Amino acid sequence: MISFYPGPSRIHDALPRYVKDAARDGIMSINHRSEVFVALSQKTTSLLKQRLNIPKDYTVYFTSSATECWEIIAQSLLLHESYHFYNGAFGKKWFEYTSKINKNAVGLPFDRETEINPDIKFSGKQNIICITQNETSNGTQVSNAILKKIRAKNPGHLIAIDATSSMAGIALDFNVADVWFASIQKCFGLPAGMGIMICSPKAIKQAKILAERNHYNSLLFMHDMMINWQTSYTPNVLFIYLLMRVLENSESIASVNKETVRRYKLWEEFLKNQPNLKPLVRNKKVRSHTVIPIEGTPEFIKAIKTKASKHGFLLGEGYGDLKSTTFRIANFPALKLTEHKRLMKFLTSAV
Ligand SMILES: *Cc1c(COP(=O)(O)O)cnc(C)c1O
Repeated sequence: MISFYPGPSRIHDALPRYVKDAARDGIMSINHRSEVFVALSQKTTSLLKQRLNIPKDYTVYFTSSATECWEIIAQSLLLHESYHFYNGAFGKKWFEYTSKINKNAVGLPFDRETEINPDIKFSGKQNIICITQNETSNGTQVSNAILKKIRAKNPGHLIAIDATSSMAGIALDFNVADVWFASIQKCFGLPAGMGIMICSPKAIKQAKILAERNHYNSLLFMHDMMINWQTSYTPNVLFIYLLMRVLENSESIASVNKETVRRYKLWEEFLKNQPNLKPLVRNKKVRSHTVIPIEGTPEFIKAIKTKASKHGFLLGEGYGDLKSTTFRIANFPALKLTEHKRLMKFLTSAV
């Protein structure tokens, strides 16, 4: 079965081999305070920065999930208010999680078919602007250009970006925000169970002002440990190792991005000629390059998913209130071009 689910998704072919290597080399038993771990952690974070083009002065942290990152931001960085732009289920959840921790979270819903107004300017200072760069539930994205404008208008605030289903799949401009996070079961092509958080010096400065150290995952606590490439708890050493192996063998993000966009365009072209398969998102300017939702009647969606699974394709379920009227196709780097073409061929014959 080839999983086109937008996370957890298809893993890289080489993973079983990497797991074997990890067993052979004793990685599964190493102590997280050992020199071996420190070297592994240092290498993984430096590879991540190289491959994804992350500024040198940003710090990479290992977490257990993207959801945990929502919580870390709320507990360790939120001094005053947080402003949550959302047009779908993940952005809304982030807002709701933050609201439970801090009463000063403000929700700013926007329409799925429209872009965020890039001229918006927030008053005060040290607030946090929260944006889901790639909304996995409905296949929309916020462009680097818009993020850049929001940054330029709001230099006194922090910007936090949920890039869970786009990081390592498209080229992101890390300079335009202070906190970025993702989990590895999406574009990284790894199994579920680890998150990555990346912070700018400005974010760390704000954490120091708040000086919150009440949790095992308080950002300052994590930061103190990460100065020596360590973590505040026993991390998933195996996944850090697997991430390192995947990164060692991956191209620069510029080439990955090129391929992602090329495949996305193939889908766009394909769907143009399929009267029974309609892209959920009408406005091309806001369409995600890594998650492609297709709309239909509940009967059609149900039938196509069943038929696809009989042919060896796992289609992504619709998410939240789009569950019965859409299915989603992941366009993540671990999926092969030949697999996309096979899925297209199947869809042509099935509808
Ligand atoms: C998948 C996803 C999450 C949640 O990731 P976890 O690893 O389950 O915490 C959060 N935000 C977005 C945009 C996602 O796609």
